Amino acid sequence: MTQSPSKVAIIGGGPAGLMAAQALLPTGAEVHLFDAMPSLGRKFLMAGKSGLNLTHSEPLETFLARFSDASPALPEAIRALDPQALRDWAASLGVETFIGSSGRVFPKDFKAAPLLRAWLRDLRLQGLVTHVRHRWQGWTDEGALLFETPSGRVEIDTGATVLALGGASWPQLGSDASWTTWLEARGVTVSAFRPANCGFDVGWSQHMQMRFAGAPVKSVVLSFDGESHRGEFVITETGVEGSGVYALSAALRDALAEGRDTTLTLDLAPDRSVERLAADLARPRKGQSMANHLRKAAGIEGVKAALLRECLPKESFDDPARLASGIKALPLKLESARPIAEAISSAGGVSFDELDTHFMLKKLPGIFCAGEMLDWEAPTGGYLLTACFATGKAAGLGAAQWLRATA
Ligand SMILES: Cc1cc2nc3c(=O)[nH]c(=O)nc-3n(C[C@H](O)[C@H](O)[C@H](O)COP(=O)(O)OP(=O)(O)OC[C@H]3O[C@@H](n4cnc5c(N)ncnc54)[C@H](O)[C@@H]3O)c2cc1C
Repeated sequence: MTQSPSKVAIIGGGPAGLMAAQALLPTGAEVHLFDAMPSLGRKFLMAGKSGLNLTHSEPLETFLARFSDASPALPEAIRALDPQALRDWAASLGVETFIGSSGRVFPKDFKAAPLLRAWLRDLRLQGLVTHVRHRWQGWTDEGALLFETPSGRVEIDTGATVLALGGASWPQLGSDASWTTWLEARGVTVSAFRPANCGFDVGWSQHMQMRFAGAPVKSVVLSFDGESHRGEFVITETGVEGSGVYALSAALRDALAEGRDTTLTLDLAPDRSVERLAADLARPRKGQSMANHLRKAAGIEGVKAALLRECLPKESFDDPARLASGIKALPLKLESARPIAEAISSAGGVSFDELDTHFMLKKLPGIFCAGEMLDWEAPTGGYLLTACFATGKAAGLGAAQWLRATA
């Protein structure tokens, strides 16, 4: 490839990199997108396997408040590609979206593949050139981008580069955070990656593990450190995961790292008061087993009953008031966060202090960053993809402006 001042390299073909391409192509730039994997958008496709929660319909200010306090640049980027704009963009590619009962926004078919296919077709029609199996390995001494490819090392000079290399979760899908080495070698501060929206180990009894791994625990309130969420979670072989747990996972992860107590409190019967439960449980059992009594008097059965047995002392079952308190505030002690490779997303990455308002690295003029490789975090609910799309657009526009300014 010859050097051209209007040539832009985007490295990383996930939502952020593709949106950077979308922003750059109409400016007439020659846009080349590189990815280490044999195909693009693998994590995006994986997100489609759980329904592809594209964004959220809540008021924008509420939406923006969900993000960790990263920098004003992040909310600004989201305002410039907000949830409604994302829905309009998906519709322009033939993918209609709808608002679920929780306010989350999904494609009508809950799939990522049709959206990705239509998007790639559109971007290629606009002139995007894609290069898969190109693993970025940093820069040569002369400043060219260096790639490892099946046919050997390739060096590429560009007028601007957008890095959209992803975070550190699910490395098998491409984002393995190996890029931190190249940026740190150039003096860029990269905060250590930590699991976000992750599960936790509990240390279940064998009975719990064998009988209930995979069981959903529905309609509960999970509380930790003054924060409560109504929702559901799933029992895993080693502990717990799922949206209700993810909502509290940043606080739980940080508490574990600081050696603080990490006892999650579960309300297994959010629609009944402790007084009513205690009165119902105090009714004579008339020879019924405790399992039947719990089911009939308190509506507690299956996995919820197993959780009670797992987390409450035996004596509580002989005392209706203690049992009722246990149902309303069951202590579940978490031992450790699951590894980052299993987390839905990651916290950490390139510090916002390293970026100018156009998402360009201050220490590396002409190099822009976007997506999950930046140091922000948010819960599940469509916030992750929205921020990746929005920062991708901002970095793409920044690169376009840089090309104009340096032409
Ligand atoms: C199971 C699962 C379900 C999810 N569901 C949702 C959801 O419903 N809603 C939501 O908002 N978010 C969801 N997410 C999170 C969301 O998918 C990510 O936040 C998003 O894909 C990150 O986009 P990105 O473009 O920054 O990075 P990625 O999508 O990770 O893309 C980065 C790209 O960079 C490439 N790359 C990395 N290093 C190199 C290198 N050295 N050289 C060349 N290429 C490289 C990778 O191959 C990859 O293609 C989910 C994540 C997972 C794992």
